[in-house]
Amino acid sequence: MQHTSIYTCPHCGEKTFNPITKAFAGGLHTRGAVCKACGRHCVNGQGSMIFSAVVYILALIAVFYLYFKCNSDWCYAYMIGAVAAAFVVTRLYDAFIGPLTKPIRNDVL
Ligand SMILES: [Zn+2]
Repeated sequence: MQHTSIYTCPHCGEKTFNPITKAFAGGLHTRGAVCKACGRHCVNGQGSMIFSAVVYILALIAVFYLYFKCNSDWCYAYMIGAVAAAFVVTRLYDAFIGPLTKPIRNDVL
C-alpha cells in the first residue's frame, strides 16, 4: 500500500507535489494546481482555508492597532510587515501541514 503524504494527489494517489508547488496550489475556491501524473486539479483543503482566515484576521487586528497606536517612523513598515508575515505563515502552513484535496468548484475536474 502506497504511503500517503500531504504531497499526494487526491485524485490518483501519486506524490506529485513538493512544499513549493503545494504552497502555491491555492485554496479550496481556486482552480488549484495541476497534478503532473493525472492532469487533474488539486487545492489546499479546508484546514488551510480556516487557518489563513484566522491568520489574516490577526494581521488585520495588528494593522488597525498599529494604525491607531503606533508613534514610530516605522509604523507603515510594521503594518506591511504584519501582512507579509501573515502571507508567509499561510504559505508555510500550505507547504508543510495541510493535506491536498479536490477543488470544490464544479468548473474544474
Ligand atoms: Zn494526480
